[in-house]
Amino acid sequence: SAKNSGKNQYQFYKNEMTSEIFEKITMKQELTEAIKNEEFEIYYQPQIDIKENKVVGAEALIRWNHKKLGLVFPSEFISHAEESRLIIPIGEFVLNKACNFMKKLSDLNLLNEGIIAINISSIQIKHSDLLASIIKELENSKLSPQNLEIELTESYIMEDIEESLIILKNLKNLGIKLAIDDFGTGYSSLNYLKQFPIDKLKIDKSFVSGLPSNKKDVAIAKTILALGNGLEVKTIAEGVETIEQKQFLQKEACDEIQGWLYSKALREDEFIEFIKNFN
Ligand code: C2E
Ligand code: MG
Ligand code: MG
Ligand code: MG
Repeated sequence: SAKNSGKNQYQFYKNEMTSEIFEKITMKQELTEAIKNEEFEIYYQPQIDIKENKVVGAEALIRWNHKKLGLVFPSEFISHAEESRLIIPIGEFVLNKACNFMKKLSDLNLLNEGIIAINISSIQIKHSDLLASIIKELENSKLSPQNLEIELTESYIMEDIEESLIILKNLKNLGIKLAIDDFGTGYSSLNYLKQFPIDKLKIDKSFVSGLPSNKKDVAIAKTILALGNGLEVKTIAEGVETIEQKQFLQKEACDEIQGWLYSKALREDEFIEFIKNFN
């Protein structure tokens, strides 16, 4: 009867909620444990300047070495880490590891004048003293600020344009670089591009995947590249997997590419080997 099915529906809804809350609680416990036991590992994906054919940077990408599940990717846990604000200590770990690794590369005379790019969640900016953390890690690692790039999404900027403008100007004043990640995928206005001290636009892989055959992706990619050129900011395409995509981006004067065509994200020693062998 209708009454029964109504009851079942309620039952189902209740169970689903319970399991969702349960998942949240266990995730929070697991992430807390993972921080304590240092189960996180940072991988580095090479960024290649396609005009000079040279490795010019690396994006730090976190992975979780879970004792039972093996290697867990950020899509599985970053949103939980943000919700529980554990992204703040996790983000500090990333910053520490990445700055030290970049300093090591400079000392080895690799990636000189290059950058290490770090993804920053809006939670880290809003609920922690990111500026102080960055100053501390730059001092500890003795990395020069020009070698550090912060990747932010448009959604963070759009949440509060005035507030984020102040924060980003303070970050810029340290001498570090700012990139807009996943450009074009968020709810945004182009207006902020005029006022913000941005160094780089990252073309999201969802616009790269259809290149060069998908007309819509072609139109969007060309538009972002024209915008980057006009604004005199660097452009990088992410998720480049094929020669054809690379050739299109080269033809359209994209500065850099990052993707499986060259390499997936690598462990520190693998990354060092990659640069040494890159010619
Ligand atoms: P993102 O910053 O846009 O990073 C690019 C993602 O594309 C990475 O996924 C990378 O492994 C993947 N990728 C690179 N080249 C290719 C390719 O050729 N083909 C395909 N299909 N994928 C490619 P990953 O490492 O799984 O990271 C996913 C997202 O998680 C990142 O997207 C970033 O938003 C977030 N994330 C990663 N590390 C951190 C971190 O340390 N802190 C924060 N807050 N977020 C992070
Ligand atoms: Mg990124
Ligand atoms: Mg991205
Ligand atoms: Mg992306």
